Formats: sequence, C-alpha cells, structure tokens
Amino acid sequence: MHSGVHGLQKILITGAAGFLGSHLTKELIREGHYIIGIDNLSSGRASNIKDIPQERFIFIEADVCSGEIISLPELSGVKEIYHLASPASPKFYQNLPLETLEVNITGTKNMLELARKTGAKMVYTSTSEAYGDPLIHPQEESYRGNVNTWGPRACYDEAKRAGEVLCYIYYTKYQVPVKVARIFNTYSAGLANDDGRVISNFVTQALKGDDITVYGDGSQTRSFCYVSDTVKGLILLMEKETANGEIINIGNPDEYPIIHVAKLVKTLSRSTSKITFHPLPEDDPKLRRPNIAKAQRILGWTPSITLEKGLKATIEQYGKKLNG
Ligand code: NAD
Ligand code: UDP
Repeated sequence: MHSGVHGLQKILITGAAGFLGSHLTKELIREGHYIIGIDNLSSGRASNIKDIPQERFIFIEADVCSGEIISLPELSGVKEIYHLASPASPKFYQNLPLETLEVNITGTKNMLELARKTGAKMVYTSTSEAYGDPLIHPQEESYRGNVNTWGPRACYDEAKRAGEVLCYIYYTKYQVPVKVARIFNTYSAGLANDDGRVISNFVTQALKGDDITVYGDGSQTRSFCYVSDTVKGLILLMEKETANGEIINIGNPDEYPIIHVAKLVKTLSRSTSKITFHPLPEDDPKLRRPNIAKAQRILGWTPSITLEKGLKATIEQYGKKLNG
C-alpha cells in the first residue's frame, strides 16, 4: 500500500492528461491523495481527465519548460513529483522533436529544482528507448545502450538519456531523492485510437475492419505491459527509499514478435481485417525485453497481466468507445 495512504499527500503529476499520467492520477486519487496535474495538452487530451472528481484534483494547463512553473503557488508543499510530461509515441515525438528534447531537459531540470526547493521525492519516467537498438538481450539497467544521435528517434532517446543525467546530477550534487523508471511498451484502451503506437493501431484497425498494418516483416519484438501493472510499479518506485538514486526497468518480460501481436489481435477481436506489410521505420529496434530482476528485488514488483488478458480487456473497451 502507498505510504501516504493514511495521510493526505500533495502530489504533482506532469503529463497528467496523457495516457499513463491520467491512469496514475486516477489510481493515486483512489488511494486518497490530493493531485495537481500539469499538462500542455500537446499529445494528451482534456477528455482523459474530465471525469476525475475536482475535490482532490487541480488541473493546470501549462508547459513544464516554463521557468514560472516552479513558483506556482499551487505547488508549494508538494511532497512527490511524478515527471511524465513528454510525447511518447513516435508519431508525436517525431512531429515535435525540439519540444521533446526541451521537455526532457528543461522540463526535467525545472522539476528537479522544484523537488530541491520543496524537499519532494521525484520519479522520472525514462524509457526502454534509452537502450536504443540493443545489442544485449534481455536489457538490464547496467547495459549502456546502442543509440543513434543522428536519426528520427534521437530526439526522444537522447532526450531521455539527458533527462537521466540531470537526475544523476541532482541526486549526487543536491541529494534530491529521485528515481528513474525505464518503462517498456505499456498499453490499454486508454491510448487514443489515433495515438499511433502499435496496440492502439492494431486494435482500432481490427475493430473497424481496416488493414492491420505491420511494419517490416513483423519479426521485431516488443514486450508489452498492461497499464495497471506499470502504474503499480511507478507508485512502488516512489515509495521505496532504497530506490533513491536508482534506474529501474518497469516492463513485462513476456516478449512477442509484432506479427504474433497482429495475429492475436485479429483472432481475439474476431476481425475480418487483412494483415498487410509496410516499410519498417528507420532505426526501429529489432528486439526489446526487460530484465526485471532489479524491480523484483528493490520494489518487490512483478507484472501480473498476460498479453492475452490485457488485449481482451483492451479490445472490449475500445469496442465500447468506437460504438459509443
Ligand atoms: P502521452 O503522450 O500519452 O502523455 C504525455 C503527456 O505529456 C501528454 O499529455 C502531453 O500533452 C504532455 N506533455 C508533453 N510535453 C509537455 C510539456 N512541455 N509540458 C506539459 N505537458 C507536456 O504518453 P504516455 O504514454 O502517457 O507517456 C508518459 C511518460 O512515460 C512519457 O514521459 C514517456 O516517455 C514515458 N514512457 C511511456 C511508455 C509507454 O509505453 N506508454 C514507455 C516508455 C516511457
Ligand atoms: N508497428 C507496426 N505497426 C503499426 C505501429 C507500430 O508494426 O501500426 C511496430 C513498430 O514498427 C515497432 C513496434 O510495432 O516495431 C512498436 O511500435 P510503437 O510505435 O508502439 O513503439 P516503439 O516500441 O517502437 O516505440
């Protein structure tokens, strides 16, 4: 159970109107906390947070890169900062490359300064993309990655790596209790239908009877984690003091080729869609699977939702969204 559950904690979530941020906000509100959400609505949507009860939730539409953020009166006394703000889907970060770099550098520095000022703990959401196109498999946190600075994914991968550097500096120089989550592909029906990431694309296509678009031959792999598991991992990361100053993988180690995911979505949704093949995007990682021994050891966390179970729930909820 979250440590603050017996007393009201004031928690800041940046990127609160996004996919993960809105799920995390709802979970922490269920646990009894008081949440301030900040989002500039660049890839997130106000509709993701519209049903959240206002008594314990304040939403501020703002850019976390703005220097004025730190002095917002609403943020005084903040005890925990979850810094999630950043485009995450390749479709969004490639349309917003400078903003992506900026939010993970200036935005992260602002949040670390806020943590320093208020004495708050902080979780920074980095990514499995920090490993690039990995040469070590599965990926453990000590692997330093195979990342390209000169390509369409660099604005995201290198921005997140720079964000991690800032966390390291504030942890060692100012003892800010910051922890880094390297999150691996997370999904649920909370992803907007037009988010562009693979599960939202495949399920939306399958339910509409459109072609299911596999990039490349579909032999590249990913390991998919259901959103409730990822959210639990992030909350534990915040809670555990032994995680301070650590980088920890948060992901589900069950790894599948993308073609398998396409076929599974088609079968589970009883779709008549055709599976079609399209060019593989530049620098698309060939393999991705987390080693979660560190998360198990430090957080006592293991994901519990299988891909099949998570996909069934996702298909059912997307179905309701599309028909409603
Ligand atoms: P998302 O795009 O749904 O949410 C990100 C949110 O950040 C959006 O609501 C967006 O409007 C907001 N944002 C972007 N720039 C901002 C700025 N300058 N100021 C204020 N708000 C800003 O993405 P998500 O999947 O919810 O990802 C959340 C975080 O988790 C990101 O940092 C992402 O890199 C990380 N992550 C997610 C995954 C995943 O599979 N979902 C995997 C690895 C890492
Ligand atoms: N992908 C695909 N079809 C799509 C969208 C994505 O085959 O419609 C592939 C993509 O090339 C990648 C994997 O699915 O190999 C995961 O893509 P996503 O954009 O969800 O996340 P990534 O892990 O690449 O950041």
